[in-house]
Amino acid sequence: MSASFEVIIGLEVHVELKTASKLFCGCSTTFGAAPNSQTCPVCLGMPGVLPVLNQEAIRMACLSALALHCQVRPVSKFDRKQYFYPDLPKAYQISQYDQPLAEFGWVSVRPAGGDVKKVGIRRIHVEEDAGKLNHLGQRLGDAVGSLVDLNRAGVPLIEIVSEPDLRSAEEARLYLTELRATLSYLDVSDLRMEEGSMRCDANVSLRPVGYAGSVEDLPRVEIKNVNSIRNVQRGIEYEIERQRELLVHGERIVKETRGFDDATGQTYSQRSKEEANDYRYFPEPDLPPLVLDVSWIEDLRRNLPELPDAIRQSLVARGIPSKDAEVLVLDREAYEYWNAARSLYADERTLVNWMLSDVLRVLNLRNESFSQASVGPRALVELLTLIDQGTLSGRMAKEVLEAMFATQKSAADIVKERGLSQITDVAAVGAVVESVLTSHPAVVADYLSGKEKALAYLVGQVMKATRGQAKPDLVNRLLIEGIARESNPTR
Ligand code: ADP
Ligand code: MG
Ligand code: ZN
Repeated sequence: MSASFEVIIGLEVHVELKTASKLFCGCSTTFGAAPNSQTCPVCLGMPGVLPVLNQEAIRMACLSALALHCQVRPVSKFDRKQYFYPDLPKAYQISQYDQPLAEFGWVSVRPAGGDVKKVGIRRIHVEEDAGKLNHLGQRLGDAVGSLVDLNRAGVPLIEIVSEPDLRSAEEARLYLTELRATLSYLDVSDLRMEEGSMRCDANVSLRPVGYAGSVEDLPRVEIKNVNSIRNVQRGIEYEIERQRELLVHGERIVKETRGFDDATGQTYSQRSKEEANDYRYFPEPDLPPLVLDVSWIEDLRRNLPELPDAIRQSLVARGIPSKDAEVLVLDREAYEYWNAARSLYADERTLVNWMLSDVLRVLNLRNESFSQASVGPRALVELLTLIDQGTLSGRMAKEVLEAMFATQKSAADIVKERGLSQITDVAAVGAVVESVLTSHPAVVADYLSGKEKALAYLVGQVMKATRGQAKPDLVNRLLIEGIARESNPTR
C-alpha cells in the first residue's frame, strides 16, 4: 500500500525573540517571573491604549529572515487576527497577514545518503505572543479550573511558514534541526522547545498518486504545539499511518487540528481547523505600515555571522570528518568551544575526537553543556599537550580528564598529585615485560601458534603491573622483542 500515497508536510514554526521588552509595550520578557507581574495596560488589552513597535524585535526578525535566505519586504504591514480565547485579552492578536515581513526563503536539509534538498520558506511574519493558561489538573479535560498568566502576552514572535516541501518525518526533523541551528548563531532567541520559546505546528496530508489537484486543497491535519523536535517527528509518523489506514479503507480525512500525546505517541482530535476567513483579518489601524530602509537591510545582510552552511564547508576543508563537522555545526556551543581550543592547539582532528567522545561523555554525565563545561578549551588543550609530550598515555589522559572535571584542577596538577606520569624508561618497562613473559608461558605459546589476541592479554598484564602507566607502544614493542628472543634463543 505504501506506494500509493505521497506524504506532504509543511511546518509552521514560532520563535520567541529575546528582546528585553515586549513587541508593543515596555514590559519585560523574562521567562519564569511571577504570574502577571510583567503586564501593563497595553499587553492587558485595556481600552484606549496604543501599541508602539519595538525596533529591536524588527531587527532580530530581519536578521532571521536574511539568514534563512528570505527577501525582506521594504514595506510590510500589521493586521488584526481575531479569535476568542482567555489567553488573548484584546480578543485579537496583532500579526501580519497579506504583507508579511519576509518571503521566499529556504532551509537546506541533508537526508542520510541523499542529496541536499532546499525546503522553501513561504513567509516569515512578526506577531505578538498570547498569554498562557495553567490548567489545574492533569489535562484540560479534567481540570477544575484554569489560571491565566499574561506575562507572555505581547512577547515578540516570528512565525516561519514552510512550503509543503517535506516528504517524511525525518525530513521534518532535519528541517527543524537546521532551522534551529541557523537561528542559534544569530542570538535572537533561546530556541527552547521545552520552555516554548520555539514551537512547531506540523501540517500533514497524504497525496494519492495521480492526484492532479493543488496540494493546498488536500485535506490536511495540523498537529499543534509539540514540545520537542523528537515529538514533532513522532507525531508526524503517527499521523501518516493514521491517515494511510483511513484512506486504505476508503474513508475520508477530516481537515482538523490535532494534539499530540507524549505518553502514547498518538495524535488526538482537538477541533475542526479554522480557515483564514474565520479570523476576519483587517489592517491594524493603530500602527503605520512598517517601512524599512533598503540600505539598513543590506547592512544587516553584510553583517550576518558565519552560518551553518559556511561553517560546514570550512570545517570539512580543514580536514574535519563530515560527521564530526555536522555535530559541531548543529551545536553552536560545541563549535565555539572547538574554535577557542583550536586557536591553542594545532591538531584539529585530535581535538574534535576528544571533544566529541571523552569530553562529551563526561559533559552528559554531569549534565553540563559545552559553554558551561568545567573543563574549558584551554584546560583540555593542556591535557592533550601532556599526551603529545609523552607524559600521559591516551588511557591515562581519560582518567585525568575525569579528575579535572571533578576537581577543577589542571591536568599537570593532577598528574603530579597522583604520581601519574607515563613510564617511558626502556629498562623499567623491560623488567616488567620479562617477568610477565616468564609467568605466562602458555599465553606466549598461544601467541607463537598464531593467536594474535594473546598479545593483547600480555599487554594487559604489563599495564596492570604498572598501574596503566607504561607507554603502550613501548610495551608492545618490548613484548614482541622478548617473545622473539625466547622462541629463538640462539639469535
Ligand atoms: P494556516 O493558518 O491555515 O495554518 P498557513 O498558511 O499559516 O495556514 O500555513 C499553512 C501550512 O500548511 C504551510 O506550512 C504549508 O506548507 C502547509 N501545507 C499546505 N498544504 C499542505 C498539505 N497538503 N499538506 C501538508 N501541509 C500543507
Ligand atoms: Mg497554521
Ligand atoms: Zn505590557
